[in-house]
Amino acid sequence: MLNGIAASDGIGIGKVLLIQEVSLAYTPHPVTDTDAEIARFREAVQAFILNTEEQARALKESAGEKEAEIMLGHISMINDPYLQGEIEKLIVGGSCAEAALEAMCDMFINVFSATDDEVTRQRAADVRDVKAGVLGLLLGVNEVKISDAPKGTVLVAKELTPSMTAGINKDNIVGIITETGGKTSHSAILARALEIPAVLSIPDVMTVFENGELVIVDGTEGLVIDRPNGAQEKHYREERERFRAERRLLDQYRGKKTVSASGEEYELFCNIGNPENAVAAVERDGEGVGLFRTEFLFMGRTALPSEDEQFEAYKKAAIILKGRPVIIRTLDIGGDKDIPYMGLEKEENPFMGFRAIRYCLQNRELFKTQLRAILRASAFGDVRIMFPLVTCLEELRQGKALVEECKQELRADGVAFNEAIPVGIMVETAAAAMLADVLAKEAAFFSIGTNDLTGYTMSCDRGNSNVSYLYSVLQPSVLRMIRRIIRCGVKNGIPVGMCGEAAADPALIPLLISFGLTEFSVSPTSVLRVRKCIARWTKREADQVAEQAMELVTMGEISEYLKTVL
Ligand code: PEP
Ligand code: MG
Repeated sequence: MLNGIAASDGIGIGKVLLIQEVSLAYTPHPVTDTDAEIARFREAVQAFILNTEEQARALKESAGEKEAEIMLGHISMINDPYLQGEIEKLIVGGSCAEAALEAMCDMFINVFSATDDEVTRQRAADVRDVKAGVLGLLLGVNEVKISDAPKGTVLVAKELTPSMTAGINKDNIVGIITETGGKTSHSAILARALEIPAVLSIPDVMTVFENGELVIVDGTEGLVIDRPNGAQEKHYREERERFRAERRLLDQYRGKKTVSASGEEYELFCNIGNPENAVAAVERDGEGVGLFRTEFLFMGRTALPSEDEQFEAYKKAAIILKGRPVIIRTLDIGGDKDIPYMGLEKEENPFMGFRAIRYCLQNRELFKTQLRAILRASAFGDVRIMFPLVTCLEELRQGKALVEECKQELRADGVAFNEAIPVGIMVETAAAAMLADVLAKEAAFFSIGTNDLTGYTMSCDRGNSNVSYLYSVLQPSVLRMIRRIIRCGVKNGIPVGMCGEAAADPALIPLLISFGLTEFSVSPTSVLRVRKCIARWTKREADQVAEQAMELVTMGEISEYLKTVL
């Protein structure tokens, strides 16, 4: 049994097809006719663009618009005037096209791979894909064809690039296993869109398997069973049926409203990290975006994104959501989210340190650039502003004052925006939870960030495994915080949502219904499951469960009790 990253749910049982990479080896040689070499490079680029457009078209049909956009992203990458200019400069200096291309791409790959952030590392994979594509054309070697794989195939590859996946026929490919890639890698995104079970990041996977051998891919648990015995095969065939039945069941909730069994309606939004995820939110039937984590726009690059760049990203999300709410959280850097070029000082206690709204209020120009970009995007949809890590009223007031300043500037410039844009806060610190009665009078809405709230309430770091036994939203102290926040919001007539991971926790859902939460914001893949969970409870039953649970005094008792009612 091999362990990897569970990247796309479901069970796949089939025969291995090893996807060997073609050799892109060449001997660098100096060139004298540099004009001819530049022409050869440009020709390869043109051919690459044509191929990629073709693959994007195929992918659009098999997987959808969003996946096709990944391929189109490759075209923008190779079309980048800076990249092309630098490559051609190297050729003018006497490099062959292959070496010039490789040198420039490798530089970007090194910069992108050096970060801790998965989304940025993903860009390195994209550059690698572009490099391999153009290099293959320069060398005249062809890429592997997956489109010919027979029915019941499990693809095993070092890395599954979007261009390789473009040819996948989802009736034939029953599983994907790779050596690299994380949950948000494009292989993972594609696998999920195609609903093919996938397990990624299994070391040396290419040497473990032989072509044609039977393998089981458990994409839900992140397990691969090589050479399964009869009992394992039987077990997983049953699991596969169970999974398919569950998926069919969930499909019944597609296109439906989110309502409890007693008829109360809820908003079911999605958490996203970039405008592309907005497509997933819509595809997965999300009713809006409850948290747009904007840090990702600042990562994977070497300088701050400009106001226009940010505006384009926010506007894109607003347009994709077609008038449904899009709550954009202002920059939440620091803590576990470092952005190297911003030069944040290393701190003893980064989670308690100079981060999020604290950093933004001290870096007004950076903050105002983002606020102006969000305000401009508000002319294109129901865009809302949310401040992270608020701990006191001054922060909310100062943030709102800056929003007003930006509005004034935009008005003076005659730029359109929504004058009545709601400005709310994340309630994710113990301080904000205790002050929720006061904050609710000046915030347009609350969104509970249970990921941080749990950490701050329990005084334990979200990533420290030594104290992870304390880190639970079912701690009575955390539940009291949540109840208090919701009650304060309800009393003051503002909507209260939850965008922390706990919003999708079936055990917590009856309590949230009982406390009066009005909006759940979850990952796009959890939408239908959460809608189903909510539909299961009447308000009265939820109240009974909440009353019992809140009388219990330890996490153990509460979690045991909630297991019995589920
Ligand atoms: C949270 O803290 O619950 C949250 C949603 O924000 P993040 O996970 O980005 O800190
Ligand atoms: Mg947080």
